[in-house]
Amino acid sequence: MKIHEYQAKQIFAKYSIPVSKGKVAFSVDEALSVAKELGKYPVVLKAQIHAGGRGKGGGVKLANSESEVKELASSLIGMTLVTHQTGPEGKIVKKILVEEGLPIESELYFGMLPDRATGTIAVMVSSAGGMDIEEVAAKEPEKIIKVNVDPLLGLQPYHARQLAFGLKLAPEFVKQFVPMALSLYKLFVENDCSLVEINPLITTFDGRLIALDAKINFDDNGLIRHKELLELRDPDEEDPLELEASKYNLNYIKMNGNIGNMVNGAGLAMATMDLIKLAGAEPANFLDVGGGASAEMVEKGFRIILSDPNVKGVFINIFGGILRCDVLAEGIVQAAKKVEVKVPVVIRMEGTNVEKGREILQQSGLNLIVASDLKDAAQKVAAIARN
Ligand code: GDP
Ligand code: MN
Repeated sequence: MKIHEYQAKQIFAKYSIPVSKGKVAFSVDEALSVAKELGKYPVVLKAQIHAGGRGKGGGVKLANSESEVKELASSLIGMTLVTHQTGPEGKIVKKILVEEGLPIESELYFGMLPDRATGTIAVMVSSAGGMDIEEVAAKEPEKIIKVNVDPLLGLQPYHARQLAFGLKLAPEFVKQFVPMALSLYKLFVENDCSLVEINPLITTFDGRLIALDAKINFDDNGLIRHKELLELRDPDEEDPLELEASKYNLNYIKMNGNIGNMVNGAGLAMATMDLIKLAGAEPANFLDVGGGASAEMVEKGFRIILSDPNVKGVFINIFGGILRCDVLAEGIVQAAKKVEVKVPVVIRMEGTNVEKGREILQQSGLNLIVASDLKDAAQKVAAIARN
């Protein structure tokens, strides 16, 4: 789960990690009153969307007076912000963070994430902050300093000093960096994060080390332990169909193609997406109804796929184990009768009660394309993709 910068900064503050002073504003009036409260110009206005690259995309503005706050806030709120992370359709800005402008001396990078290959938590810093870290990693990897922390031992002060010395920080900043790194590690572990990133982490001319940006991603599998974090979820930032699917415990992820597919089991989902690609088409989604799906879940899943306007065809690929083929067939028929199916639907199923399942499909009077096996299904999907 992702959260906004302003929310991440509130969590930082709880862990005594220094952040710029400021507040979120949902309207121009609110922005003006936050600016007034800050009492000093310049102030920075930052679009709050779940994507980075806002600076380059025009979502971060410096205002030097009340009238500039008014002018810039009205252009930011409601705008469609396009950055390299939003995709070409961009994201609508519904709120902005209004902050004190700080005298930046240098911009650094700080990042923390699980490293699956070594089973550790990787902590990375770089003096090349403020930029795209992927680009730094590709072009100047020597500028990234990394320590791998054994989660059983945790981040130790010597790790933090190693990072600070790698950044060639002056002693006054090393003193601030070490407790900050330790707090960030504590935050990371206590909240089951999958990423904590500060880009840029700045030093100011008056000798302070401050998180100017803040990004926290939480591991969805850990959220069950942190009910309070669920309140930070912003439905505006999530795909409405993904949100709908999560209500029914369906694993649904929207993608960019036009062949919707419904499967049971993540492994089969992967294999099915490969098959769709091999057939020369692109998957419109990943929908796993799970091993023990009921007819009702199949119906919900089918509806969700069909409500994506990009879907030009649907491929249902199910292995009937715990979910029997006849139950699946009932679910599909029920769903198809309730919603208007305007696109071709190819079904391949195998497993328990497959004959009965096929019979239900064939006798349903619906226009369903029943494939005899995977190869046949692939050809049928390819034919849809060509049209
Ligand atoms: P991102 O582009 O989405 O990662 O947004 P950031 O929060 O990183 O902001 C982008 C850039 O805006 C930073 O790298 C800074 O150069 C600039 N910026 C943000 N806040 C301030 C500030 O308080 N003072 C000044 N001078 N620049 C700022
Ligand atoms: Mn940033």
